[in-house]
Amino acid sequence: MPKTKILVVEDEKEISELLQYNLEKEGYQVVQAYDGQTALKKAEQENPHLIVLDLMLPEIDGLELCRYLKQAEKTRRIPIIMLTAKSEEADVIVGLKLGADDYVTKPFSPKILLERIKTVLRRIAEKSSAGKMRTLSGLTIDTVKYKVIYGGKEIVLTNIEFSILEFLSRHPGRVYSRDQIMDGAWKEGKFIVDRAVDVHVLALRKKLGKAAHLIETVRGIGYRFHDVESSDA
Ligand code: CA
Repeated sequence: MPKTKILVVEDEKEISELLQYNLEKEGYQVVQAYDGQTALKKAEQENPHLIVLDLMLPEIDGLELCRYLKQAEKTRRIPIIMLTAKSEEADVIVGLKLGADDYVTKPFSPKILLERIKTVLRRIAEKSSAGKMRTLSGLTIDTVKYKVIYGGKEIVLTNIEFSILEFLSRHPGRVYSRDQIMDGAWKEGKFIVDRAVDVHVLALRKKLGKAAHLIETVRGIGYRFHDVESSDA
């Protein structure tokens, strides 16, 4: 069986080697890049299963790189876990908005990072094996191709936005708290802050455009997917 390949983007050699050592010990294949330019090239050529991306990089910084990777057709489905410094909290929100899947704050324990990697990979695997398509109020959600279609047009979402939409749409009309959304859309582990759910929902609505009303805010509680039965009558 081919090994799961992880691209580590980190300019500090010591940290990069520490990561390589720990990842290889867990059975992963590691590809390293010490700068953004090389990272882009390797992300395209090596087609890794996941990218660990340090935000502090020379020349092209991590966020810029994240933006590019999440926009390019070839790389936009590769999950990204960001490595951030404590002082970069604002960057975390930006990164998540750009489509990064999770983050770990430096200094981190390799064990924690390994857990996050496993969780993200498992989430992706579950998503692709669930395999079905549902259409609600004209919005089609394809969980095999990660595609969302509305009015004949594809709406391109990040992994997390897609997960939230897919999760809410399982039970139209049912209200979910931010905690439940985190648990449901992220499966195991609450690695992100409450407000990140709001950030993602905001971005999701913006992308949905005319279908934005399908994600309803329930004040004081959370969010729900529009229920056709109750309000279209
Ligand atoms: Ca760095």
